[in-house]
Amino acid sequence: MHSSCRLVLWLAAAIATAGQAQTQAQTPDVVALPSATLATPSTVDSARLFEDVRTLAAPAFEGRLIGTAGNRQAGLFVQQRFTALGLQPFGSSLAQPFKAPATKRSAAVDGVNFIGFIKGSVRPERMLLISAHYDHLGIVKGKLYAGADDNASGVAAMLAVAAYFKAHRPQHTVVFAAFDGEEGGLRGSKAFLAALPFPQAQLALVLNFDMVSHNDRNEIYVTGTPHAPALVPLVAAAAARHTVQVKLGHDVGKGEENWTHASDHGPFHDAGLPFLYFGVEDHPDYHQPGDTFAHINQPFFAAVANLLVDVAATVDGGVK
Ligand SMILES: [Zn+2]
Repeated sequence: MHSSCRLVLWLAAAIATAGQAQTQAQTPDVVALPSATLATPSTVDSARLFEDVRTLAAPAFEGRLIGTAGNRQAGLFVQQRFTALGLQPFGSSLAQPFKAPATKRSAAVDGVNFIGFIKGSVRPERMLLISAHYDHLGIVKGKLYAGADDNASGVAAMLAVAAYFKAHRPQHTVVFAAFDGEEGGLRGSKAFLAALPFPQAQLALVLNFDMVSHNDRNEIYVTGTPHAPALVPLVAAAAARHTVQVKLGHDVGKGEENWTHASDHGPFHDAGLPFLYFGVEDHPDYHQPGDTFAHINQPFFAAVANLLVDVAATVDGGVK
């Protein structure tokens, strides 16, 4: 629990230090950013957004477990959506196959990431990466794990950001990554990072979306700001235009789960890159057969998608 007074002081301090090369900010475990009380800017086609989630979470894709036929079908759908949005490939194809080695948790398997970009108009050599994993848990003991929130929602939100930047060309080059094999060891993001199609020094930061559609309290978390305090005013500016309650936290693990390595942003953090991870608190359908399209919060999800578009656009305008 944090008083609003302390919050205001902390935000003022964070904004005052923005731009300085700080690696650690003094942050309470969770900070709620101010949110708007009026209607928020709406740029996202919510019908399209919901249809993307419904499609990815449909039984036809069999829960999208890496290496399965359902996962390959889901990948083809993502590839079609990237192509329809006019994303450009690095090399000849949006599909980037990789071999995921065996781990303690999983056998060796073939995976496919889908990577496309929109070239920046002002600083094309500087890149923002927006990522979301499209795989999930598959069919376990005869039960379909549809993974609507985890993480059809993040993929759909990423596609909404791509649609926005297609219509409003970004200043930086924006790279979109639909990662495979997140479940069971962040294997797609590790493979992508191990063979980046551009020098790592060109990558300014990573925005990772994973579970952004299911919360009954209108709350979304942003993890990663203690490692990138200069981003806080940008996130705060976007948050203030939306009614979704934006909370900074799950960073230090004091009294709450530390999410620094909870999803595909982890390997980028380990490589020394700043990241912002957006996700909801765990819910009863988390990694359960109940994580279906019918169980996501549609108005909340549409609001979050609009927030994420705003954050991406604000970061594109504010990052050096
Ligand atoms: Zn996930």
